[in-house]
Amino acid sequence: MAHTPVSAVMDTYARLPLELVKGRGVWVRDQHGRRYLDCVAGIATCTLGHSDRVMRRALGKQLGRLQHVSNLYKIPEQEELARWIVGRSCADRVFFCNSGAEANEAAIKLARKHGHQVRGIERPLILTAQASFHGRTLATVSATGQPKYHKGFEPMVEGFHFFPYNDTAAFEALLSRSEADGPRVAAVMLEPLQGEGGVNPGDPAFFQRVRQLCDQHRILLIFDEVQIGMGRSGCLWGYEKLGVEPDAFTTAKGLGGGFPIGALAVKQAFDHFRPGDHASTFGGNPLACRAALTVAQELERRLLVPHVQRMGELLQQLLAELVSRHPQLLEGVRGWGLLQGLVLRPEAPTAPQIVQSALEKGLLVVPAGPRVVRLVPPLVIQPRQLRQAVALLEQALLAISAGT
Ligand code: PLP
Repeated sequence: MAHTPVSAVMDTYARLPLELVKGRGVWVRDQHGRRYLDCVAGIATCTLGHSDRVMRRALGKQLGRLQHVSNLYKIPEQEELARWIVGRSCADRVFFCNSGAEANEAAIKLARKHGHQVRGIERPLILTAQASFHGRTLATVSATGQPKYHKGFEPMVEGFHFFPYNDTAAFEALLSRSEADGPRVAAVMLEPLQGEGGVNPGDPAFFQRVRQLCDQHRILLIFDEVQIGMGRSGCLWGYEKLGVEPDAFTTAKGLGGGFPIGALAVKQAFDHFRPGDHASTFGGNPLACRAALTVAQELERRLLVPHVQRMGELLQQLLAELVSRHPQLLEGVRGWGLLQGLVLRPEAPTAPQIVQSALEKGLLVVPAGPRVVRLVPPLVIQPRQLRQAVALLEQALLAISAGT
């Protein structure tokens, strides 16, 4: 028998000292029965909360019918989910996979094909933003504009160049440098709101200019909606907040409500994939698509998108009041809908310290970098629970600041 250290699971995560064993709605419980208000939601994923009744019934029924068959055959649940996305977005066709990184991998491949086919580029470049986050596979981590994720894994996949987010002048300069000797840029890939990079909402004027330049040069504009898509912003898609349509977008986290599924959605004119170009064994299987279809159906039946809009306003207001009560520790609040970031002053404890302290008070929150505490609760959260969350966050902040 092999020697097992503390855990047989590889040490890729700096985990918190907590084991969660069950959940209901916006609450989860650990193995000792202690209850936590969940403002992490599996990192912006459990759209309908935990153990949702409709979700349980739908997945149980689907398991009793058919779970997985592969993409050798047509999958009716996949067809229906693609129709739902296409019917409610700027896209015309969808490719399904299992995660955000995989959806972005598909987008990167599509971008390269666009570069070769449409712009006649031999070695296409993709421009992405500093502080972006696009995933942990080799290509998506290479596309991620945060050197800390590259360290130790060089050489990165070539062909990604970075510019400061929301900086029109810097973007224009990089584009004209890159295209000085002819076409080189296949695509621009951007998050409408940067999640992991510190909860930075996109500036509509910047995005409009990027859209204009992409149109002018026939460059593919891709939005990474892995975290902000599926209603979290208070609109169904983050791009609606910017008033700018992408040519293609990816989504994942909230799509399956906790079940792994990702998607790349494209406009007809940019659907360059042909049979054999891209594939995934599990991608869009009947069970995953049933999970996403149930999330989609419940988003609409429970009017969750306008609910997120209202809850987002309330959460932002509650956090702004918290900032005004503790101006020496807190700098401000930023975000859209139910993806809000509380920005800490340099004098305050760090985001990971506050997350740990919140855990001790019975609240789950997650850092977005060292100086931002991120709240991404299930979209079904109610005003009373938001008030409770901010009260617990205040207790956590005071406890850690006082060293108790
Ligand atoms: N893109 C964005 C914007 C994300 O926030 C994430 C995950 O946090 C990813 C991509 C990667 O998604 P996954 O972890 O499902 O591969």
